[in-house]
Amino acid sequence: MSDIVPLRDIPEFDLATDVLVAGFGGAGASAALEARRAGAEVMVLESSSGGGGSTQMSACEMYLGGGTALQHDLGIEDSVDNFYRYLKACFGDNCDEERLKLFCEGAVEHFDWAESLGVPYKRGFFSGRDVVAMTGDSLQYTGNERAWPFTETAAAAPRGHLPADADHSGGLVFMGHLMERVRESGADIRCDARLTALVQDDQGRVVGAIARIDNRDVSIAATRGVVLCTGGFIMNETMTRKYLPDLDSIATRHGNPGDRGDGIRLGQAAGGNVINMGEAFVGIAHYPPPQLTYGIFVNEQGQRFVNEDVYLARLGHYAVQQTGGRVYMFIDNRHFERPAYLEVDIVAVGESVAEVESEAGFPEGALQHTVEFYNRHAAKGEDPLFHKAKDWLMPLDCAPFALVSYALDQIRPPVFTLGGLEVRPTGEVLRPDGSEISGLYGAGRTVAGIPRTSAGYASGMSVADVTFFGRLAGRQAAAN
Ligand SMILES: Cc1cc2nc3c(=O)[nH]c(=O)nc-3n(C[C@H](O)[C@H](O)[C@H](O)COP(=O)(O)OP(=O)(O)OC[C@H]3O[C@@H](n4cnc5c(N)ncnc54)[C@H](O)[C@@H]3O)c2cc1C
Repeated sequence: MSDIVPLRDIPEFDLATDVLVAGFGGAGASAALEARRAGAEVMVLESSSGGGGSTQMSACEMYLGGGTALQHDLGIEDSVDNFYRYLKACFGDNCDEERLKLFCEGAVEHFDWAESLGVPYKRGFFSGRDVVAMTGDSLQYTGNERAWPFTETAAAAPRGHLPADADHSGGLVFMGHLMERVRESGADIRCDARLTALVQDDQGRVVGAIARIDNRDVSIAATRGVVLCTGGFIMNETMTRKYLPDLDSIATRHGNPGDRGDGIRLGQAAGGNVINMGEAFVGIAHYPPPQLTYGIFVNEQGQRFVNEDVYLARLGHYAVQQTGGRVYMFIDNRHFERPAYLEVDIVAVGESVAEVESEAGFPEGALQHTVEFYNRHAAKGEDPLFHKAKDWLMPLDCAPFALVSYALDQIRPPVFTLGGLEVRPTGEVLRPDGSEISGLYGAGRTVAGIPRTSAGYASGMSVADVTFFGRLAGRQAAAN
């Protein structure tokens, strides 16, 4: 079947609803709930045998700020303006200003919404450096808030909101509550039901869809609109080879099997534009343990290229740009430990930097110069090249020394996509000329949302984005 079926080819629809949501993950469930609450009849199609998607697999950390109830109760100072300045610094010219403003202004209410679903958030703050707080606490720093250059633009505030006592399993808790609320709302949820085509009338308006249900193509009229929430495209090798050629061979594909890019492909077939397709999250978990932050990363020229106190996705962003993706951590005996989430190889050890340099086959003097320069300034609490924060500066002078390989083709970092359909913040899918495709909406990783590059990504930016804008798209479709 082709991606688009003309309305004139359908004598009569098999089923009908007001709003048809494709995908029962974070974005889709949020859209369905809000569309129901706005009074629309809602049908949800989910291609796998149960909902949840990648959102359910995630820790469900949500990046929210501006003075949420959790921040407030823990005495954390933040403001909408501070939150906005931080996110603007993360995504720069590539960010969508209107989307960013709406998100920053709505984040406080969005957290209240999450709590109102029944998701528990503990009034506990984890101030350490970890990917996900393993203390049961619900608030933590998750990005580059305390790292240069972000410290120059916005006051550091913790904004990672985690379901209580869930460690890495917050997605199960969050999606459990969200999907239950959708069920209670009376939405018609169909699993093992894959959206395979969109139905368009002669004016280009999307008026329904075709789904594969029980080995049969079922036509469904959607009088108010179709909302595409089918996740990203990291599992679609044809698309990753086309859009992310440098990452395709080294990536550990981070997502659920449904991340095939169905919604993106169908939205394009209906005339939609795609943007940001070459951008992806690339995570190199160089902590925990936090003490590894004292080490320095070098490329195969023996040069540093980043401040090591950054979030793991910013490290990933810069690591990809080094020759052959070959990056190493140089560290001394005082601080060495194996990273908790990565298998790494020690490629050289020695009683002196020169010995390590020679064993690793680096150009003579290159690593020695880097370490000497770093140590000389670290002793004064300074990092003139990359401005690593004072807290993480200590000369690396305790022999023996080690060079640890974080080569990308060895560690195969987790990667998921950040590009997709171009949509208004309220979900309307746009054509390349900027006009709206009537009746077609999108949210979540199917569209280009708040996070636009690994360089500015922080844990929590996806789930906050997909649920926040999923809600807006659901409401907008219901009002159509
Ligand atoms: C292990 C892991 C941990 C993560 N941790 C975090 C975190 O803590 N915080 C954070 O912000 N981000 C995290 N992320 C990223 C984040 O989870 C995802 O980017 C986000 O949840 C995607 O939400 P979504 O609604 O767009 O897609 P999903 O939640 O994946 O939902 C899409 C749904 O659509 C279905 N589908 C696909 N095609 C079709 C079709 N044709 N018809 C019908 N249904 C279809 C899929 O089966 C799926 O259920 C993590 C990701 C992973 C993999």
